[in-house]
Amino acid sequence: MPKRDYYEVLGVSRDASPEEIKKAYRRLAMQYHPDRNPDSKEAEEKFKEIAEAYEVLKDPAKRRRYDQFGHEGVQGGFGGGFADFEFDLADALRTFMSEGFGGFADLFGMGREERGRRQPPRGSDIQIRLKLSLEEIATGVRKTLKVRKYVRCPDCGGTGAKAGTGTRVCPVCRGAGEVRQVSRSLFGQFVNITTCPECGGEGRVIEEVCPRCRGEGRVRDEVTLEVDIPPGVAEGNYLTLRGQGNAGPRGGAPGDAIVVIQEEKHPVFERRGDDLYLELPISFPDAALGAEVEIPTLDGRAVVEVRPGTQPGKVLRLRGKGLPHLNGYGRGDLLVKLLVWVPEKLSERDRHLLEELGRSPDMKPPASGGKSLFERVKEAIRG
Ligand SMILES: [Zn+2]
Ligand SMILES: [Zn+2]
Repeated sequence: MPKRDYYEVLGVSRDASPEEIKKAYRRLAMQYHPDRNPDSKEAEEKFKEIAEAYEVLKDPAKRRRYDQFGHEGVQGGFGGGFADFEFDLADALRTFMSEGFGGFADLFGMGREERGRRQPPRGSDIQIRLKLSLEEIATGVRKTLKVRKYVRCPDCGGTGAKAGTGTRVCPVCRGAGEVRQVSRSLFGQFVNITTCPECGGEGRVIEEVCPRCRGEGRVRDEVTLEVDIPPGVAEGNYLTLRGQGNAGPRGGAPGDAIVVIQEEKHPVFERRGDDLYLELPISFPDAALGAEVEIPTLDGRAVVEVRPGTQPGKVLRLRGKGLPHLNGYGRGDLLVKLLVWVPEKLSERDRHLLEELGRSPDMKPPASGGKSLFERVKEAIRG
């Protein structure tokens, strides 16, 4: 496929400034990021294309060569036998991450946290495993989860300071959040700047510690979370509940709660993508004579028609009786594999009937193409 012009890909003019290029890349990368467009091959292709264009246009030397020679100019050498300069998804994600806006918060429009001093650290994410039955997956379900996590200290509201007291400027760094250490060596003088150990870089310290949280601004508690699971999820899918993770220390922003789906094994149905698979034992007379057999489905029952003369192993497909597609319309199918069940114990009467049946020439498996297995083996040896 011929490559599109890189400027066109990013939607910028040929004389766009580095800032404009970065902005255009950022906007498009957010739009087509695979986390935002699960299962969209088209978005993934776009995401790779814009990353590739950005890698070239953000580098002044590469950009000059591209301007002069086009795509030829930035491939792995001028006709030097290199493989095509092709971006895979890993490269594209690396480009995205390397620009420093790879965070989830960013991706979902939460705005990036201010980095730097005086910003208490964000709380950590918590991971919750949620077991679901196939029935729940088929319909989607609202779940209430009990979770133990850090919550903001109710006594001090997260400041870590005892009620009625406040914070004061850190005496060690005088509010700067960092300390400078000068050291001399053979090669001259070095200034080493480190985070202030007294206030952890926040620039302020607590006057009197909150007795409940001991100055941490958060305490452990059990809380309930509600989560809506859409229909059609699968093992390993996860949902992110933003801001429902651990509270950060000293009023820091909370992390996220990540709910990871686990699928319970179903006693009857096996899941194959969005199709369901069921093995249905039928009797020999039903297989030979044909029958209507009732089977369970995830939301009730259905009837399958077994045609006269059905062979064991035949798979019937019931359209739309599988699981709903996630992020889309329609449902998978229910595949019913017919097994012929053979009785292990026989009454006298049944034994007589079967023996009589067994003498009928119509009960013998037919020779394939008019030839028995023995004849076919012989032919193979001769051939
Ligand atoms: Zn407290
Ligand atoms: Zn300090």
